[in-house]
Amino acid sequence: MTLPIRWKVIIATLLVLACGLLIARTLAIRSFEQQEIVRSEKILEVSASLITYGLQPFLMQPGSLSATPRLQAAVRDLGARALTRVTLIAPDGRVLADSAVPDNTLSAVENHLARTEIQQAVATGRGRDVRRSQTTGERTLYLALGLPTQNQTTPAVFLRLGLLMTTFDREVGKFHKDLALAFGIAFLIAVALSVGLAHSITKPLSDIAIAARQLAGGDHEVHIRTGSRDEVGLLADTLNHMTNQLKAKINELSEDRAQLLTVLTSMVEGVMVLDCKGRVLQVNPALEGMFDVTRLDARARLYSDIFRHPQLDTLVSTVLANRVNEEDEILLQPSGRCLHIEASVTHCDRENDACMVLVFHDITELRRLENIRKDFVANVSHELRAPLTSIKGYIEALRDGGKDDPTTSAKFLDIILKQSDRLNLILEDLLQLSRIESGQILFKREPLDIQRGIERTLAMIKPLADKKGHRLVTVIEDDLPAVLGDEDRLMQVFSNLLDNAVKYTPENGTITVAARPVSGDPERPSIMTTVELSVSDTGIGIPERDHPRIFERFYRVDKARSRELGGTGLGLAIVKHIVEGLGGQVWVEANVPTGTRFVVRLPI
Ligand code: ADP
Repeated sequence: MTLPIRWKVIIATLLVLACGLLIARTLAIRSFEQQEIVRSEKILEVSASLITYGLQPFLMQPGSLSATPRLQAAVRDLGARALTRVTLIAPDGRVLADSAVPDNTLSAVENHLARTEIQQAVATGRGRDVRRSQTTGERTLYLALGLPTQNQTTPAVFLRLGLLMTTFDREVGKFHKDLALAFGIAFLIAVALSVGLAHSITKPLSDIAIAARQLAGGDHEVHIRTGSRDEVGLLADTLNHMTNQLKAKINELSEDRAQLLTVLTSMVEGVMVLDCKGRVLQVNPALEGMFDVTRLDARARLYSDIFRHPQLDTLVSTVLANRVNEEDEILLQPSGRCLHIEASVTHCDRENDACMVLVFHDITELRRLENIRKDFVANVSHELRAPLTSIKGYIEALRDGGKDDPTTSAKFLDIILKQSDRLNLILEDLLQLSRIESGQILFKREPLDIQRGIERTLAMIKPLADKKGHRLVTVIEDDLPAVLGDEDRLMQVFSNLLDNAVKYTPENGTITVAARPVSGDPERPSIMTTVELSVSDTGIGIPERDHPRIFERFYRVDKARSRELGGTGLGLAIVKHIVEGLGGQVWVEANVPTGTRFVVRLPI
């Protein structure tokens, strides 16, 4: 496991500090020892001068010095006075006297010529050494000086002073302890300082690390707070700035995405986005409805696996291959929906980029209206041409001699008049339809007494019905509520429906007009909101398959029969327009057991 920065800083600081303290301690102790030794050496030198002075009587004696009890006693005395060990050594290394050695063992003392300080004194006249004494076993500072005897220049005897280092060692030991205490305290302070320092350095860093982790986790509200104005502070500021920028960018992108989704979702047109391999990247709800697929099913799959339509396949592969915009129209089976497709290529660099956008416009209604318009134009032309051709033919026949025969001319003129009336009727019906459609005819909205309107219309139609021996029956419920409408238009509706019932019912049929209040809302059947009017007959009926188209202009079940009966094919279209203009509904159903039943519902 990697060590956190804090610990690295603490350990590094403490290591450096410990090394520094150790070096300082060693240097301090060494310097202290040296100072002490120099001082002791000076003391020894002073003592040596005094002792030399004390030994003068022996040194002034002629001949070389020899170990005598007197010398030994003098040396012991001088040693006791000077608080040092005094040794007199002959040039050959024999110990002549020693204040630290009992008199009787003096002769047994080892030869001292090999001692370091004596060797130095032999060489330079002065020698010094610090070591543990072989004789006393104590650590001792030795100073050896060569002393000349009378009339001799070379040393005849070596005076060696030995100062015990016990006090010195005690001082050094105390110094060690003091130093250790001081350095220990210093070290503890340093530990505290380095921990504090490491914390102050690493805290902002770990704050930054935590914030960066939160940022990576999707929390864009993080803000790093550091009081420091150093590099770490700068880093935190930069990260905060970056976070703000990122947040702004993400918000912008989210808004764009939300808007795009809203547009895609609310579009009536189906939209499909493909990548350059023909895989589906996006489809909108309209497209889901058109092809009965779900977005989840479609995503990341090849379009050809989902939309199995050869024409669509060809269009997509052409666009992907040629990289040019194309459009086409396809027919969906079995729904019969007609779709216009615009396929546009987009600029894409990577494999998963959007490469092509397909927009599907449902033009089924457009095509239907176009067909209606075409049919209408063809029908109008046909309907107008038939009487016109007839008029023209009879006029030509009159001109070619028919006018000379009064009976023929009267017959022809009758036919011409009849055809002109028919032309007039068609044109009037067409004009009326067009006025209703263009809103030129404004429907009045006044309360109407339905019963009275029905009775008036029946009175108008009765002569015709009587002619064919029809029975007119009315079934009108009492206290029928008034409906809101336009009396003249409503009478036209009745008259067209009754006229048809009379026309398309063979002699001696029964025509029933009924009116009753009904509920327009299946969830609240007790509340009457509409009045239902129906015209039923026992006539030839309308085949079920013609029901959906029966209200179209010029649509007739049997064209020849309709013409023969003087129909224009516009009556029911006018009925539908008026009823819907009054806010109602109209439909046709089969009458039981025979005939037809037209039902009109108008709001109360
Ligand atoms: P027309 O002037 O030809 O009667 P309409 O628009 O009134 O035109 O009627 C359209 C067609 O509907 C008629 O041609 C006829 O075939 C059929 N139709 C209308 N009413 C009836 C009915 N009561 N019984 C049978 N067929 C009818």
